[in-house]
Amino acid sequence: MFIIFGTRGLKHTVNESPILSNACPNCNNGNLVNKLYRRWFTLFFIPVIPLDVVDRFYQCDSCKSAYNENIRTVLQQSQNEIDESQKRAKLVFGKALVASMTHMSIIDGDFAKEEEREIMDAIEGFSEMKDELLAIHHNVKDNANKGNQVFNYLNEARNALSAEALMNILAQAAVVLLADGSIEKEEEDLMKEYLIACGLPKEMYQTIIDKLKQKDISELKEGQLN
Ligand SMILES: [Zn+2]
Repeated sequence: MFIIFGTRGLKHTVNESPILSNACPNCNNGNLVNKLYRRWFTLFFIPVIPLDVVDRFYQCDSCKSAYNENIRTVLQQSQNEIDESQKRAKLVFGKALVASMTHMSIIDGDFAKEEEREIMDAIEGFSEMKDELLAIHHNVKDNANKGNQVFNYLNEARNALSAEALMNILAQAAVVLLADGSIEKEEEDLMKEYLIACGLPKEMYQTIIDKLKQKDISELKEGQLN
């Protein structure tokens, strides 16, 4: 199932904040501009939920990559350290994604083929950390949330990643929730717990599910976040 989600909203440039010239770690020559953002969570380009979070971040004026404000500290580090912290962020994202998708797929006591396919597709996107993510997948599949492991991964993600990345994780967990064609009470409750764990209102649950169900997915062309 291919879904398009993202955020949009009022975005302003923060004029008093200096531009970081040629500093973009992604394209290497873009300038990073400090932005202020009131976000809306969107599904299929429709703004769904206004997020009361006003976020400050840096955005590249060339490739449009967005970075947490702590990029300033990161940029003072060496290229090796930058590569390392990018890799760490990706790993934190991948771990939270795979743990929550797997947890969601087993919570109703039945691990469906469609659910497994969604998870394997997600893991494929992380070529260099595939083994580690597969290990997490098997661990959560066998032990569920033992030792609160799934929520620990989500917490780690909440502390390290942008709101956009968290949305991405939750929307993909919602796809797993819908993958076997029926929504069990356990799945609904778990999704609400994930929302709360990510600092979002649990009322957002129904809206996400409604939008995902309404849409005829096959009509959608492949697109990108944002
Ligand atoms: Zn860039």
